[in-house]
Amino acid sequence: MSTTLAMPTAARRRRLVERLTAWYAEHARDLPWRRTSDPYAIWISESMLQQTRVEAVIDYWTRFLERFPTIQDLAEANEDDVLTQWSGLGYYRRARSLHAAAQAIVRDHGGRMPSEDAALRALPGIGPYTVGAIRSIAFEEPAALVDGNVERVFARLFDLDLEAAALKRHSWELAEALVPDNSPGAWNQALMELGATVCTPRSPRCDDCPVARSCASRKAGTVAERPRPKVKQPPIEVALELALATDGDRILLVQRPEDGRMAGMWELPTREIENDAGSLSGLFPAEFAGPLELDEVLANLRHSITKHRIRAVLRQATGAPKRPDLGRWVAPGELEELPLTGMTRKVLGKLGP
Ligand code: SF4
Repeated sequence: MSTTLAMPTAARRRRLVERLTAWYAEHARDLPWRRTSDPYAIWISESMLQQTRVEAVIDYWTRFLERFPTIQDLAEANEDDVLTQWSGLGYYRRARSLHAAAQAIVRDHGGRMPSEDAALRALPGIGPYTVGAIRSIAFEEPAALVDGNVERVFARLFDLDLEAAALKRHSWELAEALVPDNSPGAWNQALMELGATVCTPRSPRCDDCPVARSCASRKAGTVAERPRPKVKQPPIEVALELALATDGDRILLVQRPEDGRMAGMWELPTREIENDAGSLSGLFPAEFAGPLELDEVLANLRHSITKHRIRAVLRQATGAPKRPDLGRWVAPGELEELPLTGMTRKVLGKLGP
């Protein structure tokens, strides 16, 4: 078992960079944000790609940039509009942070994305990974980055038998030691691309790997044990009742509170009921926002929000919130304009036009 934390020699670093960037030049997937050098467009892609699959991001990224082509456009947009464009991607705090950061860039940097480390870090929602991505990919600055793909590649390439926090720490040290002055953006993207397409979590394709010859865990026969498997937390079960109250062709929707998860998004009236374990997650209100009478079951649904596994029963309902600020009747044509939660979008999609 190797726990060596020595840095690779200069010669090895050079070989790795040469092989991996040459491979990337030939094998990189053709993704729309790789065809631009606009720091704003790259920033949006990096923000969307955190926690979301590439295939899912392509359409969102394209639509978002059509709606908000520049930092100024995003800064001047109202928040509901930004959330509507983000609706379905999840992790809505990212959208709010993008919006706030665009306003800060207009206010403090004349609307131009800064390239300095400290200026980027000062922006809302921009962490070390995004700083590294923007600086290296958009500005060709030799800035390191580490994401889950990079950690996995390093754990295998250097046979690192480390628990999660130590692996993250050491991965940053390695990334900083390895990032080249020439084409740092290509190097960083090559590392992530290797993790996404070849050195995948399960069944890595070592026979197709451009750095297989210098892979320590392949030599040691420990690929399947790197990185160390995380201790899995069981999902949190959530049981919900959703109410479909209609007035002609209009549907009753309620707005979530301005703080907490999915803040300010619109959803069908929802109440959490005790799940099989007799507990509530607190993710949803325990009562409807007004008197609603529930009737027949229209559908049973399953949905996931991060660690939460949701079982929901959709029921026909009559009634309306007492206070108009708690809900509103929404016509079909207005639905596209409202930031809906992913679950409500899914339910309404299933019900059809
Ligand atoms: S040889 Fe296999 S384990 Fe090693 S970096 Fe390449 S794909 Fe990953």
